[in-house]
Amino acid sequence: MPTGSERQKFRLTASAIAAHTKHRCDRLFRWQTVPALLRGQAGIGWNVPKRERAASRPAIRLLMAGGDEFELNQVCDLIASVGEDRFVSAGEVTENGRTQVTELPLETFLATLHAPILPAFIAQVAINLTSDPESERAFLAHFDLDADALQLGPARPDLIQIIDPPHPGDPYCLRIWDFKASRVARHDHFIQEAYYSLLLEHVLAWANMTNIQVDVETAIIRSRKGDEVFELQPYRRAVSDFLRNRAMPLLSTPAVDAHYHVCDHCITCEYADHCRAEADAGTDLSRIAYISSESKRRLKQAGILTHRELARIATGSAAATQLSTLRELSHDLTVHGVRYLASAQALEDGRVRR
Ligand code: SF4
Repeated sequence: MPTGSERQKFRLTASAIAAHTKHRCDRLFRWQTVPALLRGQAGIGWNVPKRERAASRPAIRLLMAGGDEFELNQVCDLIASVGEDRFVSAGEVTENGRTQVTELPLETFLATLHAPILPAFIAQVAINLTSDPESERAFLAHFDLDADALQLGPARPDLIQIIDPPHPGDPYCLRIWDFKASRVARHDHFIQEAYYSLLLEHVLAWANMTNIQVDVETAIIRSRKGDEVFELQPYRRAVSDFLRNRAMPLLSTPAVDAHYHVCDHCITCEYADHCRAEADAGTDLSRIAYISSESKRRLKQAGILTHRELARIATGSAAATQLSTLRELSHDLTVHGVRYLASAQALEDGRVRR
């Protein structure tokens, strides 16, 4: 573990897990889990760039404003449909030019669930376990995550729906909603809700609330297309597997060594300029047209670190043998290895090969 100080801890967030699903980028996850104050510092933040302030990126600022407006409109619509007395929210707050639904403390949420009459919806519950270290530690231990190296960032599902029991005496059910101003719901949105459901389940169990359970079968994303009701279980399994088997090895990797691959998906990533410049300066394999992230990983494991090194294979005395060996590394390299080689050569001399 690359720690420079015993107290340095990574911070796990729903958005970092969702972004790893979206971008399939180990570097992004490794970097995103470093708290802002530790970036650039010796220890876990070494070689991790400072975050780019969203306010300095006009397109991102507009996207965030659009998202805020979309969410507020949805909340207003729901209040109008169920009535103010059945909708619990802490109101709205304007800060740094953004107007958002105010987060509701976890204690208030739990107190609301103890009331004799439950509301239909509760907005923006802040599931923040850092104020209860034993609870946080128990959640991390459940997924074999090292509580000495990792803490949980606050998680805020946009909305929790409280569904009445089908029969008297049965438990109430909490269904998670999220508002996304995107055109349609995406897999990374589903992943985010699955993580919330795991956290919420833990919170209810820790608080001994046996009369209420989390809906682990179904959740909802409300996008501009409408409500997408989706099966939660496959995403819960994916998140559980990621937490249990993938997260700690990724966090144990020095930031500079975490696998990255510049591709079309990077356009929405805050590090796009940084990674593109690094790839260009270092003749990185991801400059090769259409090469997959996995093929880049396989080539690096085989000792080929740059497109210059790949291009040299084509001209060496053992070219045929080496190419044949590389093509055995993966299905993608079997099918496209020759094309990647031609592309690497073109990056060297500017001549297009067919
Ligand atoms: S820009 Fe691309 S390669 Fe860089 S961190 Fe983001 S997703 Fe990964």
